[in-house]
Amino acid sequence: MIDVEQLRKEFPILSTEVNGHALIYFDNAATNQKPKVVTDALQEYYDGYNSNVHRGAHTLADKATKAFEETRTLLQEFINAGKSEEVILTKGTTEGINLVAQTYGRMVLNEGDIILVSTMEHHSNIVPWQLIAKEKGASVIPIPISEEGEIIFEEYEKLLSDKVKIVAVNHASNALGTINPVEEIIKKAHEVNAKVLIDGAQSAGHLPVDVQAMDCDFFVTSAHKMFGPTGMGFLYGKEELLLAMPPFLGGGEMIKEVSFGGTTFNELPYKFEAGTPNIADTIAFGTAIKFINKWGKENMAAHENALLEYATEKLKKEVPTAKIYGEAQNKVSVLSFVIENIHNYDIGMMLDARGIAVRTGHHCTQPLMARYELEGTVRASFAAYNTFEEVDKFIEGLVRIVKMFG
Ligand code: PLP
Repeated sequence: MIDVEQLRKEFPILSTEVNGHALIYFDNAATNQKPKVVTDALQEYYDGYNSNVHRGAHTLADKATKAFEETRTLLQEFINAGKSEEVILTKGTTEGINLVAQTYGRMVLNEGDIILVSTMEHHSNIVPWQLIAKEKGASVIPIPISEEGEIIFEEYEKLLSDKVKIVAVNHASNALGTINPVEEIIKKAHEVNAKVLIDGAQSAGHLPVDVQAMDCDFFVTSAHKMFGPTGMGFLYGKEELLLAMPPFLGGGEMIKEVSFGGTTFNELPYKFEAGTPNIADTIAFGTAIKFINKWGKENMAAHENALLEYATEKLKKEVPTAKIYGEAQNKVSVLSFVIENIHNYDIGMMLDARGIAVRTGHHCTQPLMARYELEGTVRASFAAYNTFEEVDKFIEGLVRIVKMFG
């Protein structure tokens, strides 16, 4: 188990106050807080060796390029990709999915083809597929989920056919916390020759990820959900697919030679990294990965799971009018619920008045909310720096809110 008090010291924001109360930050699934080493890395780059990468023939450019490319190697190791060229730096999960939809999707989809997504996807793993499907005369079909918030595997198997070209599912759900059986999903998809994209926005910082063992074709995630900066992330793709795919954006960096007679493209990974990249945030993302490696992803997840179990039991016991959504067997540390006769938005506002930050609403999963006939839920999502005492204050706050409305 980790030393939570020691860990908390790494995050300056955790000793601040909100509305006159010590901040209790339970909105980690939206974005988590940044340790000082990560914000220091940004500052050090801008103050110490700000320079463009790859092109410069001077000392600063060389230093920036080395730090930038070190992140790619750290990411490769983090997900056990076979080659660092298979790691494409992006603005985040959303851009990664759009990249695959607009390049791989455009290349393989034909009239009548099918893209399968689950009912619990984030909008960013639905809308990019709808855009390309519309253009190609293909359709996006949802895989049904159970009352507990798990993919109904038999229904998934029934939907598989040679018309299915792409399966896109999340590794863990942001709205329910469900961990999906991605290895089995991928194995079944491959039996009909469909390729699989795994949305790892909620998993990469919490679950072991080995893209080779998983055998996914694409894996995407965002840095800001794993102690890194916003607007930063990466796409992993199998080399043979990335080589076959056309470029996504055109511009500098992604070319080998440009002429009006025809342009040739750079090799991987640069073919997919047009323009001056987000250098500072890439370097700081590397620092965030080192930070996770230092504390141990497994150790942090063990504490998060203990918090989830504690909060779930306490909520059931002390707030009997609460109904939890997503009681899957395997979950990341997300607790999503509604309370009878109290709007989720009111609960969020009243918790905020006590310095407690939770997320309310549809969590960018409107089809999932429709599945449960909900407008939204209250979502508390825990990180390794959260404590049992904070959970106590959160439940205490909920009990007061229920009394006030009662
Ligand atoms: N997919 C899931 C499961 C998410 O939780 C999120 C963010 O909440 C995203 C995709 C989109 O991530 P980003 O906004 O960083 O691109």
